[in-house]
Amino acid sequence: MVIKRKKTREIKVGDIKIGNNNPIIVQSMLKNKLTSLDDARKEIKDLQDEGCEIIRTAVVDEDDLKNIKEIKSSDYLKVPVVADIHFKWNLAYKCLENGIDCVRINPGNIGSYEKLSRIIDMAKEKRSAIRIGVNSGSVEKNILKRNHGNISNAIMESVTENVIFFENSGFTNFKISAKASSVIDTIRINRSLSEKFDYPLHIGVTESGSRFEGGIKSGVGIGVLLSEGIGDTVRVSLTDRSIFEVRAAYSILDSLGLREARFEIISCPTCGRTVVDLKSYVEEISKHIIKSKNKITIAMMGCIVNGPGEAKEADIGIAFGRKKAAIFKKGIILEKLPLEEAFIRFKKELGQGI
Ligand code: SF4
Repeated sequence: MVIKRKKTREIKVGDIKIGNNNPIIVQSMLKNKLTSLDDARKEIKDLQDEGCEIIRTAVVDEDDLKNIKEIKSSDYLKVPVVADIHFKWNLAYKCLENGIDCVRINPGNIGSYEKLSRIIDMAKEKRSAIRIGVNSGSVEKNILKRNHGNISNAIMESVTENVIFFENSGFTNFKISAKASSVIDTIRINRSLSEKFDYPLHIGVTESGSRFEGGIKSGVGIGVLLSEGIGDTVRVSLTDRSIFEVRAAYSILDSLGLREARFEIISCPTCGRTVVDLKSYVEEISKHIIKSKNKITIAMMGCIVNGPGEAKEADIGIAFGRKKAAIFKKGIILEKLPLEEAFIRFKKELGQGI
């Protein structure tokens, strides 16, 4: 089955084109504060190595503004940056003035249409983008009241009001995101948005939880929408390292044939034959960034009897026996070594980043 994507208009965030059948773009958000500049710098590099294509960061005050300027002018930054701003219209204005690629604002908490106009005018001048981001937790109270607490209807009304204002201001380089922590609401709202507008949609399930619960909720919510052709950029929100958000996003896209994941780890569920702590070995490998231009499929199996055979399709794999482990490629055993030694050799085979 080939998914037919909903046709949306093209916008640009930095050099990245979004919408209009361009590849679905993978985004994430910095967990580190910009005031911890060294940590933020490392996180940016890790995200880029993992294949993140747009990085968003919270900008909460003037110190953050100073640091975002330094990040924007650095050599290590390779992808567009989105400044995420609530309440302080002047911060959004100054970020744009300083060349930020996009600001994410919830127009409902910016204060007034006059302030919103100032932001829009600066985005126009700098040819930057704006993301209209309305979340279930931050939808305007009066709109929520008017819709008798119905979050889907309230979000639709809020987004619609803002889209009309942006269009009347002569600005269309924007994308829309409307997220709820409920998967059902997220699906319902984005279906309605997709029917009503042709602006690119950034999709995700907000505050979805840990790597396990959040990954599943996001997989269901984002997966259902993507399978219906809805969504031009994605973020998987997790209470975990941001590289896992990127990995999860590619995994969802890969499973639907929309983008290719950078790598995939196939690991067996373990059984009475397993003699090693396979779970911790898999964890160790998955913690690292695997730098590979082409997709690489890695197998990690708990026994030498069935392991290589069960993972014939893997590019490279390891199968742990009682005393020795076998390293194999495409199901063919290359070498058998004592367990620890084999794992070290296996990591070396995987190359950079381990
Ligand atoms: Fe059990 Fe071996 Fe299959 Fe793993 S690969 S589940 S250890 S039989």
